[in-house]
Amino acid sequence: MFKKILIANRGEIAVRIIRACNEMGIQTVAVYSEVDKEALHTQMADEAICIGSAKSKDSYLNMQNILSATVLTGAEAIHPGYGFLSENSKFAQMCEECNIKYIGPSSQNIDNMGNKLKAREIMIKAGVPVVPGSDGEIANETDALKSADKIGYPVMIKASAGGGGRGIRVVSKVEDLASAFNTAKTEAETAFGDGTMYMEKFIEEPRHIEFQILADEHGNVVHLNERDCSIQRRNQKVIEEAPGAGMSEKLRKQMGEVAIKAAKSINYKNAGTIEFLLDKYGKYYFMEMNTRIQVEHPITEMITGIDLVKAQIRIAAGQVLPYKQEDIKIIGHAIECRINAENPVKNFMPCPGVIKSLHIPGGYGIRVDSAAYQGYKIPPTYDSMIGKLIVHGKDRDEAICKMRRALGEFIIEGVDTNIDFQFKIVNNKDFIKGKFDTGFIGKEFKNI
Ligand code: ADP
Ligand code: ADP
Ligand code: MG
Repeated sequence: MFKKILIANRGEIAVRIIRACNEMGIQTVAVYSEVDKEALHTQMADEAICIGSAKSKDSYLNMQNILSATVLTGAEAIHPGYGFLSENSKFAQMCEECNIKYIGPSSQNIDNMGNKLKAREIMIKAGVPVVPGSDGEIANETDALKSADKIGYPVMIKASAGGGGRGIRVVSKVEDLASAFNTAKTEAETAFGDGTMYMEKFIEEPRHIEFQILADEHGNVVHLNERDCSIQRRNQKVIEEAPGAGMSEKLRKQMGEVAIKAAKSINYKNAGTIEFLLDKYGKYYFMEMNTRIQVEHPITEMITGIDLVKAQIRIAAGQVLPYKQEDIKIIGHAIECRINAENPVKNFMPCPGVIKSLHIPGGYGIRVDSAAYQGYKIPPTYDSMIGKLIVHGKDRDEAICKMRRALGEFIIEGVDTNIDFQFKIVNNKDFIKGKFDTGFIGKEFKNI
């Protein structure tokens, strides 16, 4: 087992990883930017090294500085978390070349799945159903028009390098296609430095169902069941739950097997997620694979009893998965609400600032993963998520009651948050019934 791990991230996920390391008796090294000197991850790790100024590209995306910090502190492995360098195949490759263990898949795995166009092709070859779409890149307006004609409106224009719900546009009529294509392409160029676009059929009223995979370095792959992440705003997840409401055992088994097939087809290693769209007729389509730990991983931990970050570390250390598919059980129901510093009535504008007072909910079945503390100053530089409220109940109804109760207890003063908005969602009658699709927030909360 590793003696020392460097965490190439910040915020709640860095804290989450440090906690796992502590419990495993592994020393930790935090890296931090100049604005994160007082951040929780900086304070919690055994050692901390400043790697640059606030801007991500100078610090958390600065591969040279992160690798130097690793060598300097004698860490043997790097955990990338999510976001930042977590899906950067060049970084994983540099780790491989420097003999530093990257806690995640191989650079080739990342390369294959990080490019969504390439991922589609690989999945089609592997016999995995993918969303119907363009054969390859859509290079210009003419291509876009031809493709949309063939696929049939409505269509979705997507960035091949996309992530975090950006670089995506839905187009329902031909007149809107050219301008949507150009804005999505520009957005992708700015956000990802890559304007490669493709097109998919827009699946109407789908659910976002994703399967958590764990694969060791000896060819064993299991899935840890599904998460339903359909409660989204602008294609970004807001609430996730596991298992999916109303998911039949038969469909779970089928989709789980397809997810394993997808992972095996690329000889995937470590933790990963296969995202599917499930349409209203019960047909499912591969959408993308996330080759990293995900924000919503705790809900899977709660229902399976498996610590995913520890599993990632053990897999990276060469250990064999200690369970077979039939050992993975679902215990109860878990829900996660993302708590963001933002103002829902001001179009969800981020609201950085000082947390003047903080009361974190507790009690049976409540978990809060956060890097916030009273007096902490949320910098404007990074994303606005300040924590995740996770509840675990014996069934979905109990989980909802716990979430309501816990949201009611949660007090954050000094910055605006989406806590009241989350409270409204979990009190919505269709949400309670489990009757929703990815358009839920757009329809139910039109006026905010
Ligand atoms: P998850 O799939 O784990 O739910 P999100 O889509 O919410 O993750 O993304 C997690 C974090 O990673 C967010 O901060 C998001 O902005 C960032 N992110 C995801 N994909 C990319 C990408 N391709 N490029 C840059 N940042 C990304
Ligand atoms: P990202 O990398 O930004 O997470 P995804 O490809 O996972 O991008 O898509 C983000 C979200 O957009 C999905 O969770 C889903 O709600 C919606 N979406 C993506 N593709 C389609 C599609 N073809 N039809 C309908 N909705 C889609
Ligand atoms: Mg996605």
